[in-house]
Amino acid sequence: MANPTLLILAGDGIGPEVMGQVKRVIDWFGTKRNLAFDVSEDLVGGAAYDAHGTPLHDDTMAKALAADAVLLGAVGGPKYDALDFSVKPERGLLRLRKEMDLFSNLRPAQCFDALADFSSLKKDVVAGLDIMIVRELTSGVYFGEPRGIFEEGNERVGINTQRYTEGEIDRVARSAFELARRRNKKVCSMEKANVMESGILWREVVQKVRDADYPDIELSHMYADNGAMQLVRAPKQFDVILTDNLFGDILSDCAAMLTGSLGMLPSASLGAPTDTGRPRALYEPVHGSAPDIAGQGKANPIACILSFAMALRYSFDRGDEAARLEAAIETVLADGARTADLMGEEGGTPISTTEMGDAILSA
Ligand code: ATP
Ligand code: MG
Repeated sequence: MANPTLLILAGDGIGPEVMGQVKRVIDWFGTKRNLAFDVSEDLVGGAAYDAHGTPLHDDTMAKALAADAVLLGAVGGPKYDALDFSVKPERGLLRLRKEMDLFSNLRPAQCFDALADFSSLKKDVVAGLDIMIVRELTSGVYFGEPRGIFEEGNERVGINTQRYTEGEIDRVARSAFELARRRNKKVCSMEKANVMESGILWREVVQKVRDADYPDIELSHMYADNGAMQLVRAPKQFDVILTDNLFGDILSDCAAMLTGSLGMLPSASLGAPTDTGRPRALYEPVHGSAPDIAGQGKANPIACILSFAMALRYSFDRGDEAARLEAAIETVLADGARTADLMGEEGGTPISTTEMGDAILSA
């Protein structure tokens, strides 16, 4: 059988630096675990603009659609700030998300014991935390029509429309239930069915999908405002949280801060399954191109490496190997290895991006 294919789009700023360590990890799996990938690389964002005058070349788009998974570093930087909106680096990423139709955004909030002091919450509230937020990414109030600022009488009115079709709710719900099957089979769906029609439909459709096709999953519903409160009060009560675009935007940032540094947070964006049975998928760290530290060899590569771990688990059904990689990261952190972003009050000497890669590989 042919090896699965990975397209690497390292992008700009610290993107290529952190991706350099991911490539070493991928090679390690090929030689040490007999888990080889056919890897190709291409340009995205400012790097693609510099080479082709567009932040995503059509050929690259075609490769992304054909690949089993795409790994992305980061896009953008001050060099491109003055560019016209149509060719901004971020547009490259938006085009990928749109044409791959990545409607399900997965953001884990996982707290490594060694970093529990970094949380804004008490250590015992977050130690061992491992939850996943599934956010609908391509519909809802950010896209619904009508939208705009209109004249109404003698004043203006700003309008956005929260809109969800049954099909849109159905597909993201399935993606959350599939995910839950690989975890602890527990989903909490969050909306505002008490005050929003879209929330009523959301709750109804999610329940229907569960009853019809996922009876093994324990499903609960919660109003999103209560959900926000519970998330900072007792986050460990959750496993998978399923929610819409707007609430997901807010809840996932909130969950991110439960765990500390931006340099630790991976993400996945999934679409519909292709002929291979695998979903279209793009994996990337939550952080951006970090222009303030780019080129200095001090970026933390862990978010990007954990994004590859998500690819192993969600695109390639190798949760066992993903766990191996995550355990290595846990070990390295427990041994005290820290890039600059992970240095606390106690001080010490930070290690470089490459040294963090070395440590993870040897663990
Ligand atoms: P974007 O708009 O692309 O999200 P941003 O400016 O909001 O970018 P980042 O580029 O993620 O955010 O940077 C925010 C801060 O976090 C910066 O000070 C950056 O140096 C730091 N940072 C981000 N990622 C990392 C990392 N992997 N390692 C160390 N520091 C990081
Ligand atoms: Mg940002």
